[in-house]
Amino acid sequence: MKKVSIIGAGTMGNGIAHVFAQFGFEVNLIDVSSDALAKAVLTIGKNLDRMVSKEKITSAEKDATLKNITTTTSLEEGVKGRDLVVEAATENLELKCKIFRDLDRFADARTILASNTSSISITKIAAQTQRPGLVIGMHFMNPVPVMKLVEIIRGYSTTDDVTKTIFEISKSLDKVPVEVNDYPGFIANRILMPMINEAIYSLYEGVAGVPEIDTVMKLGMAHPMGPLQLADFIGLDVCLSILKVLQDGFGNPKYAPCPLLVNMVTAGHLGVKTGKGFYEYAAGNKDLVVAERFR
Ligand code: NAD
Repeated sequence: MKKVSIIGAGTMGNGIAHVFAQFGFEVNLIDVSSDALAKAVLTIGKNLDRMVSKEKITSAEKDATLKNITTTTSLEEGVKGRDLVVEAATENLELKCKIFRDLDRFADARTILASNTSSISITKIAAQTQRPGLVIGMHFMNPVPVMKLVEIIRGYSTTDDVTKTIFEISKSLDKVPVEVNDYPGFIANRILMPMINEAIYSLYEGVAGVPEIDTVMKLGMAHPMGPLQLADFIGLDVCLSILKVLQDGFGNPKYAPCPLLVNMVTAGHLGVKTGKGFYEYAAGNKDLVVAERFR
């Protein structure tokens, strides 16, 4: 297993490409947008520079990592002759189903197809292909080069062999794989999202303010980041869509997204990526600044 393709060169795709390339895999990074590909290569270069300056890798290792990465906008060209494809395109069910139907046509019959989806059913994605046994979830955490966990999601038909192979590959990337079954939210988001939603409900009901809620969880529960700051970091639109997957998947009202979260997403306040969420993120602003509406 040495040749991989990564589909999607956004936040997660560039991190996944970085890690595979750093550990000696030949990586082909694929995106529909050539701008996204150019930006991803720049980001990987910057992140590698930071690792060199912290003496985590040498500059020769940085050069070797970059040499392992090629890019293309053609899915058909980009997945030929690969051992593994990791899909990290936009979180959208129809889009992922289409990508997996195309992958099944263009990738070699032996190629393992993994998805980095946060919440979409692996079984549903696998059902788009003629090889459901070779389809698996490989859920990396953000930022990928830093976070150790890979949540490995077995679809209904995923084989033991494929699960074992993906475990071994994850370990070879210096990650810690954990196996879970394919139910809504898997484990990471099934536990994390209700906590974030409850934090937003606490704010909405006026139980406490933004910094108070985050401070309680940071200092009281030893979380490195409070739930509202974490929600901003993940993206409030992403949090909302995962809560809807939990709500639909279990049919249980306890997963209903807080109306404040729905309003913030509708207003385009999505957190770090739009500069406004529970906090405000202006360039050069090192301290956390609570968003005006919550002061
Ligand atoms: P993103 O929006 O940053 O990047 C998505 C990329 O996919 C974009 O560059 C887009 O051009 C590309 N894309 C869209 N359609 C494509 C297609 N047909 N072929 C190739 N590329 C295509 O998204 P992201 O945050 O990197 O998320 C990617 C996946 O990772 C999602 O499934 C998401 O749920 C999952 N995920 C995200 C996080 C996170 O914290 N952001 C964490 C874990 C998992």
